[in-house]
Formats: sequence, C-alpha cells, structure tokens
Amino acid sequence: MSLVVIGSVAFDAIETPFGKTDKIVGGAATYASLAASYFYDKVKIVAVVGDDFPTEEIADLNKHKINTEGLQVKQGEKSFFWAGKYHNDMNSRDTLVTDLNVLADFDPIIPASYQDCEFLMLGNLTPQVQQTVISRIKKRPKLIVLDTMNFWMDIALDDLLKTISMIDVLTINDAEARQLSGEYSLVKAARKILTMGPAYLIIKKGEHGALLFHEDKIFAAPALPLAEVFDPTGAGDTFAGGFIGYMAKVGTVNFNNMKNAIIFGSALASFCVEKFGTEKIRNLTQQEIASRVQEFVSLSRFEL
Ligand code: AMP
Repeated sequence: MSLVVIGSVAFDAIETPFGKTDKIVGGAATYASLAASYFYDKVKIVAVVGDDFPTEEIADLNKHKINTEGLQVKQGEKSFFWAGKYHNDMNSRDTLVTDLNVLADFDPIIPASYQDCEFLMLGNLTPQVQQTVISRIKKRPKLIVLDTMNFWMDIALDDLLKTISMIDVLTINDAEARQLSGEYSLVKAARKILTMGPAYLIIKKGEHGALLFHEDKIFAAPALPLAEVFDPTGAGDTFAGGFIGYMAKVGTVNFNNMKNAIIFGSALASFCVEKFGTEKIRNLTQQEIASRVQEFVSLSRFEL
C-alpha cells in the first residue's frame, strides 16, 4: 500500500520582506511529499524535472524514504521555474516568472510499483494531467485529495470541474472557494462545492487557519500565531502533504480522523513558513512535531 504524490518539482526564486533567495528547490510535490514522509514511509512521487536538477536533491528525497521511480528526468531540458515576491503583509504575492519548461508537455508515468496506491495526492497542476493520473491508477484509491488554484478556474474551468467530480477531498483557499461557488458566505460556498463531487472540502484561510466541511458538519482548525514568518511559499502544499500523510498512517477515512489530519497538516505548515523554501521541513524530528501539535491543542482548548 502506498501514498502517491503528484505535482511540480521545481526551482523557485523567492523574495519576502525578510530576504531573497536565488534558485532554490521547491515545487508542490516536493513540499507535499516531504511533509507526508514524517507520517508514512511509503510515499511515492510522480513528477518531471530537467537535467539541470541536482541529483543530490533527489537523493535527499530518498533519504526521507520518498520513492522517486516516477520522477522523470528529461535530458536536454530545463526544470519548471517559478519566481514570486511577497507583499509586506505576506498574505499576498505577485508571481514574477512562470517558466513551464518540462511541465509544458508533462505526461505522467505511473510505474507498475505505484499501482498499490491507496492514498493519492493530486498537487496543483493542470486539471487534465490530474485526470490522467487518476485514469492510470487501475484500482481506485481509498482517498483522493486535490489541490488546485484560481488560475485553473480562470482558464480551464470545465476540465477542473470534471477533475473535482472524481475526487474525495478538495483543498482550496477562501478566495478560490468564493470564485468556484459564486457565493460570498463560506458556508454557502461549501454547500455548493460539496454538490460538485467531493465528500469533503477544506477551505484554507492562511494565517487564520482552515475549515473542514462534510455533509452538514464543520470543523474549524486554528493557525498557530507565529513570531517568525519568513516565507509562506509551499505552506498550502505542506499542509496538504501532512494531511494526507496522516490519513495514510491511520488508514481509515472518516470525519474524526480528518480533524486530526488537519491539525497535523497545519503543524507541518507552521514549520514550513519559519524558514525559506523547504529548509525547515527537511530536518524535523517527531518530537518537534508532537510538541507543535500540543501547542495547537492548548491554543483552542477551553472549558465551560
Ligand atoms: P504554494 O505557496 O502552496 O502556492 O506553492 C508554491 C509552490 O508551487 C512553489 O514551490 C512553485 O514551484 C509551485 N508552483 C507555482 N506555480 C505553479 C504552477 N503553475 N504549476 C505547478 N506548480 C507551481
């Protein structure tokens, strides 16, 4: 049994009010698979890079027990490159560069050894590629989580709606939930989105936490107030990776386990923003994660 993560493996250049990086390793699948690896030791990645991608970076994923058999290396081509600059409040950013390079014609290959996939994380990519992955996994996984963004709502809505109808959990931010549903109230937005296919919806609200919707139930997870926020890049992917990694670890899909999964995903995301890029989430200990989760518990515990 395994957890398959698909998404970008990339170079990023990031600028925040606290500093600037040259090309560093990023990508949705990098963040998500690293986060998941703290909970589950059969994480397998499907992605594509160019021959400019350092082999030691792939070796580092392998050190986290992440299987990279499905990571294609295209000779003579360049890896996906993204550059972004955050505004002073760190809640919004401008994309400065998106060089698709190898992602332009990405044909995801699912190795035979990945056909035992029980948990599937579809990281942010074209809805078409996400559908291709679902169709190439012969036995329908127990849980399919989809992460997407407003960009695909703008340019490929029909394809996106089709993908959304095929999955179990959708993770989007509050602005995207409003755009997708045409509703301002997040409760009404969630009701509408839950009729589009997924049984569960997670609405991420950045530094204000996340909401989980299922049938007529709602769970609100706080975000930890942090003294140091250096770089929010990848926080959403890290959240999603931690979420599905925890679900794979417990193995049973239900609302209660998802509540815990959201807290573990939020804990991983809170580490992610404390340093640039993937730096912080490469070197965590189980003890650090456990004590961060306890901080979440105490943050919102009260007695009547
Ligand atoms: P997030 O901050 O959660 O939106 O994720 C940021 C990561 O997504 C960066 O590491 C980028 O490399 C990657 N990324 C940005 N734009 C795209 C895109 N259009 N397709 C795939 N990955 C992207």
